[in-house]
Amino acid sequence: MSHAVTLISGDGTGPEITEATRRVLEATGVEFIWDVQQAGAETLEKCGTILPDEVIESIKRTGVGLKGPITTPVGKGIRSANVALRKKLDLYANIRPAKTYQGLRSRYENVDMIIVRENTEDLYAGVEFQRGTPEQEEILETIARTTGTRLDQNSAISIKYISVVASRRIVKFAFEYARANGRRKVTAVHKANIMKFSDGLFLATAHEVAKEYPDIAFEDRIVDNMCMQLVQKPELYDVLVLPNLYGDIISDLSAGLIGGLGVAPGANIGSQYAVFEPVHGSAPKYAGLNKVNPMAMMFSGVLMLRHLGERDAANRLENALAAVIAEGKYVTYDLKPRPDDPTAVGTSQVADAVIEKMHQLAVING
Ligand code: NAD
Repeated sequence: MSHAVTLISGDGTGPEITEATRRVLEATGVEFIWDVQQAGAETLEKCGTILPDEVIESIKRTGVGLKGPITTPVGKGIRSANVALRKKLDLYANIRPAKTYQGLRSRYENVDMIIVRENTEDLYAGVEFQRGTPEQEEILETIARTTGTRLDQNSAISIKYISVVASRRIVKFAFEYARANGRRKVTAVHKANIMKFSDGLFLATAHEVAKEYPDIAFEDRIVDNMCMQLVQKPELYDVLVLPNLYGDIISDLSAGLIGGLGVAPGANIGSQYAVFEPVHGSAPKYAGLNKVNPMAMMFSGVLMLRHLGERDAANRLENALAAVIAEGKYVTYDLKPRPDDPTAVGTSQVADAVIEKMHQLAVING
């Protein structure tokens, strides 16, 4: 069986890591029908839009996208293509696994967490009021009238918006993910002791949903305590579910626990579509140099294979990546003891090594 997948190379170093990832995915033996789509800086210059409608239409057809990073131009009033994609396809769950592999430069062993971040609301809903505007004044008046608190006139306001619907579906997603992937515990992260209504609602909803999953353990943690716990004993945690802002911060913290952005994969999943992409950005200063690590995107490919039901291929690719990391020979600069290590290899050589390793492991495993 072949799988139709929308392939978006992105820009900066995106095309190099996408090509390396496409090669290793094809080497698993799974057949793909790639619907190659362009988005990013070049598309903006040629077509006047960073994210053409064709890209969205393609993912609506295939249901699955594999995406390289896309640069967000600064100071030109252009909205992030990544945020637009998530909004247009209602990709409400951002999944970021954080797993230690032997050979990665990390202070920890046995970390194996899945961060499930709500992707659509919270302080990231984009509801903001600029200082000195009539809208901001109106909001200040409303706040004074309804709460008795008069906020400083010289201030800006961002709305923290948390709904039952979105909280429910993200927590349900976390439990379903735990169940489908043999995980034992879900931890909801919040600050409900201070934000009693918004985070309180998230937490109360999480407790309600947890009752529907008696086979999975449930606990909650206050976000500041969670940060300390993750630094002290990350091996105790399994699936974490968080509102948007805490999810953003904790997932980067977790990427740091396991050896950095070069190996941190991600997925954005909705009820109909899914887009897989590395956590890192386009690292434009290294564009065209065959230098950056393609493994974060390759691990995103592992997540995609699992999503497509290709579990064996996913395991083969993950094992090959783990073996190449453990050997430490054919890895990029970021996985070497020092970034200027002359034995570091380039992006495409990593793909060669992973493909070779998949062949070797296939022979060993008969
Ligand atoms: P970045 O992740 O692109 O790069 C930060 C630094 O991390 C790089 O200078 C490099 O040292 C290191 N790095 C990143 N990826 C690496 C890799 N694969 N291998 C080795 N080292 C790697 O972050 P940034 O500089 O803040 O962002 C650059 C652009 O990417 C911005 O326009 C940003 O908006 C965009 N961005 C896009 C996405 C996305 O497409 N999903 C995500 C984050 C940032």
